[in-house]
Amino acid sequence: MSRRIIPLVRHGAAPSTAPGSSASGQPLGLVRDTLLRPMHDLRISVTDRCNFRCTYCMPRAVFDKDYSYVPHGDLLSFEEIAQLARLFVAHGVAKIRLTGGEPLLRRDIHELVGMLAQLRAADGTPLDLTLTTNGSLLERMASPLAAAGLKRVTVSLDALDETIFQGMNDAEFRVESVLRGIDAALDAGLGPIKINMVVQRGINENQILPMARYFRGSGQIVRFIEYMDVGTSNGWRMEQVLPSAEVVSMIDREMPIEPVDHNYPGEVAQRWRYRDGGGEIGVISSVTRAFCQSCTRARLSPDGQLYTCLFASQGTQLRELLRGGASELEISGAIASIWRQRSDRYSELRGAATASRDKVEMSYIGG
Ligand code: SAM
Ligand code: SF4
Ligand code: SF4
Repeated sequence: MSRRIIPLVRHGAAPSTAPGSSASGQPLGLVRDTLLRPMHDLRISVTDRCNFRCTYCMPRAVFDKDYSYVPHGDLLSFEEIAQLARLFVAHGVAKIRLTGGEPLLRRDIHELVGMLAQLRAADGTPLDLTLTTNGSLLERMASPLAAAGLKRVTVSLDALDETIFQGMNDAEFRVESVLRGIDAALDAGLGPIKINMVVQRGINENQILPMARYFRGSGQIVRFIEYMDVGTSNGWRMEQVLPSAEVVSMIDREMPIEPVDHNYPGEVAQRWRYRDGGGEIGVISSVTRAFCQSCTRARLSPDGQLYTCLFASQGTQLRELLRGGASELEISGAIASIWRQRSDRYSELRGAATASRDKVEMSYIGG
């Protein structure tokens, strides 16, 4: 089966870009969208391919050998990514997360990290540069990534039970390989590590307590994520969502926890700490407690499209501007103009009206 939600590219329709002709006439500098949200984070998806087939993200029946991934020639080169990233930084981005698909499948990814590590935020400080991975290739990649300037890493792990984990990744990857990746990342200085666990009712909810127990006291932070209706492939149903409030009370009953303030405005995870000093956990309640009002994330796809929401059905093609010889000022103006027009708040509106929308796949745009 060959089916991918091909983003409906606005070919040649990037907003007017000439200096002086964008929405406010200002192609450079900090920008805010229609809900006054600044652009603070950039997620860069470096590939739409993955060696896992997580049933909630890339179900094997859809992402099979005939699936049409982004052709190699359409992928942004590292130089193109770095060039665009610099323009985003000029508009206020201070945090960059590399994602995918599986970002460590992209050959020589540490070289891209090295280029991005050179960038400086508006206040002159280095960027908060991080990466989300399934951990399967982290054991050998952690050290070169850290040497290239990566600051931290987030590792996804949905279960400690081997049968449940393999049932979810559907590619025979073992828990042990991910745990070895986590150890290597810690040895390389990429800690503290955030561990992402997508919770699905009836699938891995019995792994919540084992995961909390295992990482408690380790310095790592498990983040329990509500299962989301991203893309159109995973057959999402509301009954499969286990609300974060239930996760919190489940953990609190055995290991008492208390809420902690956000680290920074716009942080998506609600933080909780063990009352006995055993560290902290996070919950990400994208479904039951939408956080669109503070969403400051722009997303760049592997083929150079800018998306302003995880649930968007279309992006705006920046690669064509780059390859078509547009000046940096023009591309910068296009980015600013797109952000100024942004009004996305999908999670707040989620319901019957949004259910049938075409949405970009998570493996294409990244988490
Ligand atoms: N392959 C890498 C990984 O799994 O860490 C990076 C990309 S993955 C799309 C980024 C994050 O999105 C992962 O933590 C993954 O568990 C999460 N994710 C994927 N599909 C999801 C869904 N339907 N609901 C909630 N989180 C999801
Ligand atoms: Fe791959 Fe990550 Fe999606 Fe799993 S969640 S299929 S590891 S991209
Ligand atoms: Fe941001 Fe869109 Fe998610 Fe709302 S639904 S938090 S706007 S990515």
